[in-house]
Amino acid sequence: MRKFHQNRSAIYALHPWQVVETEFRPEYNHRSESIFALGNGYLGLRGTFEEGLPEEIPSTPGIYINGIYETEPIIYGEFMAKQPQEYQTMINVTDWKGLKILVEHEEFSMLQGELEAYSRVLDLKEGALRRELIWVSPTGKRTRFAFERFISQVDKHLAYQRCSVTPLNWSGQLTMRSQVNGAVRNIHHLRERALDVLFTAHTNEGGTIISKTRNSGIAVGCAVSHRTAPETSIMGSAGSESLNFLARFQVEPNQTYTLEKYVAMATSRDTAEEHLSGFVQRLAERSATRGYEQAKRAHVEYLAEFWEDADVEIEGDLALQQGVRFNALQLLQSTGRDGRTNIAAKGLSGEYYEGHYFWDTETYIIPFFLYSRPEIVRRLLEYRYSILDAARENAKRMRDRGALYAWRTINGHEASGNFLGSTVQYHINAAVAYAIHRYVEATEDLDFLAEMGAEILFETARCWAHRGVFLESRGGKYCINEVCGPDEYKPGVNNNCYTNYMAQFNLRLALQAKDILASKYPEQYAELKARLQLTDEEFARWQKCADNMYLPFHEELGIHPQDDSFLYKDPIDIDSIPEEEIPLVANWHPLVIWRYQVIKQADVILLMFLLGDQFTLEEKKANFDYYEPRTTHDSSLSPAIYSIIAAEIGYQEFAYNYFLQTVRLDLDDYNRNAWQGLHTACMAGSWMGIVNGFAGMRTFGGKLNFRPFLPDQWKRYSFRVKFRGSKLQVTVEPGRAQYTLMAAAGPDLSFCHFGQPVTLASGQTLEVEIPG
Ligand code: BGC
Repeated sequence: MRKFHQNRSAIYALHPWQVVETEFRPEYNHRSESIFALGNGYLGLRGTFEEGLPEEIPSTPGIYINGIYETEPIIYGEFMAKQPQEYQTMINVTDWKGLKILVEHEEFSMLQGELEAYSRVLDLKEGALRRELIWVSPTGKRTRFAFERFISQVDKHLAYQRCSVTPLNWSGQLTMRSQVNGAVRNIHHLRERALDVLFTAHTNEGGTIISKTRNSGIAVGCAVSHRTAPETSIMGSAGSESLNFLARFQVEPNQTYTLEKYVAMATSRDTAEEHLSGFVQRLAERSATRGYEQAKRAHVEYLAEFWEDADVEIEGDLALQQGVRFNALQLLQSTGRDGRTNIAAKGLSGEYYEGHYFWDTETYIIPFFLYSRPEIVRRLLEYRYSILDAARENAKRMRDRGALYAWRTINGHEASGNFLGSTVQYHINAAVAYAIHRYVEATEDLDFLAEMGAEILFETARCWAHRGVFLESRGGKYCINEVCGPDEYKPGVNNNCYTNYMAQFNLRLALQAKDILASKYPEQYAELKARLQLTDEEFARWQKCADNMYLPFHEELGIHPQDDSFLYKDPIDIDSIPEEEIPLVANWHPLVIWRYQVIKQADVILLMFLLGDQFTLEEKKANFDYYEPRTTHDSSLSPAIYSIIAAEIGYQEFAYNYFLQTVRLDLDDYNRNAWQGLHTACMAGSWMGIVNGFAGMRTFGGKLNFRPFLPDQWKRYSFRVKFRGSKLQVTVEPGRAQYTLMAAAGPDLSFCHFGQPVTLASGQTLEVEIPG
């Protein structure tokens, strides 16, 4: 076993419901900006400080709106036909967090004077960020500061900031200057500034900045309003790109003076551009009238309900408990819930991956929400439906039929200039189809299937049935050439095992959807059939492609070759690769990587999980034994999947160690790149590691199945799953599991515990042994 980081000490203090920074260290600022990010799936803010930092301290000040992007021409070194022409980059929008504070004539800065006490807390239960400190100014004035901010989970347009200042040994003038800055740009990726300010407007308490992107033509509106306690007059002013609001207090020692900032953000996607200014202004003013505490209560209530369903409790390991909760909150904060947006690889916590959506959503993140917030999953799939036309165009670009989802995108069109890392990964089509299947299975939302899901399944099946070829040299089997599976270190291969199996599954799902629609939704079926010009001959071809799919298997080794060439590549001992050359993608020329039997991330092993009922335990073990020593896990999407299969085949130590890699990847900054933004798919992998890994949950055949075990290091763990309208609590303790049916859709719920059928009535608890 290798490359496990379990001995790393925690960077942030351990706590079951908090992430705590107890010391301000400028050298860690960049990383902490990602860790302390807040968001609500629409609006996101990195953990930057209200008062700002000097330029020499590494920082990516970022406020983002999910799905709001700028385009720029992709510049290619050489001409190649049919390449995407435009980048799409999620932009940094109007910066509303600024607050300068003057203690008499000295400006508050944590880098001057002395910090007597400091703590920054991300409160996981409340989804709020708090910073408390005592600052002694260079002339000796002691002042207590308490900052708090949150982004409403209830109203996606609203954010809140509060700063309370308590002079401890002085009286005099305290000045708070709240700022809004429209002159923003991205630090990484975009060559040009994206947003131009169209106009600013202000009153004394509040103001508005309206800006517009230069190329993509999206208008962004930001309005603020302020309140003070005790009440004091505020003086607003505006520059051509900024707003300033000055609040002055005559202060006495040990009294507290507070400024509240109410922020509203929206775009021309939410309302017509000409109404945007009034829209955000009204929102900010209403929000200020309603007050901070009321908004906070509603926000915390939302989160209480979320935790009620989504929390995973681990007893016996505080670091992991903290990790899974941090990940769950950050996932919620990252996820678009309006049917128009999705989940970027870094959520709303950083500029890396440019705010692009990948297969990460369907394969990793949807499972996390599916069993706690299935309505969010519907929205995520609605997004896929909304870009189906773009996927159709993408298929045409590749001379394919049907639809081919873009590998990285915001607006539905391919945004990658490197087809060997993007378009070649046709398996994204199957990821979308697979997620639709799981969603319908867990919710029985057949209306979704009729309205949107079936059309996606038909168009992706159509693509698969055109993309491959029946090859004589392969015994007449249906082969899919020139693709890349999940392992990005092997692009342009033939018959990637994962891809072929998943394509077969996708084709069969489409045929099942056809039958469901034909019998249950005859009108929609007839309309769809006519609109897509589907014929019985085409359905027969899907069947034939699926039934004759070439499914690689190596008799002698008893494994599933990753693709036609993998077994014949140069062997390499990956333990001999110096650590500083990992990840290979950042250090080796692609041609060097491609020629070795080295794997970036779970590929065949992922297949063994997703379609686990198609493989025997012996096959899973043989494949794990073969591929594990060849996998560098250079993608954070990998360890969780290895952990799940290790758990299934009884490799408990592997399961535990791979789980550790997943849970605290960002909190402990294993890959030293947390500053770029959080790894959302990996975060979701930690939920899968427990529920699918240690508890062995699978839903094959439309039924819940569990095979739980308790890692030696823990005393107990517990989680809840919603399935077909029922809610089941699963608790695992030494030697036994406890199942409680907390709510039932029907009279009872049946599921399997180690293959044995169990039926529970609503409210009933059953305790069962875990077989040795
Ligand atoms: C992985 C992909 C993933 C992407 C975004 C890459 O490093 O190889 O599978 O979709 O990151 O998370």
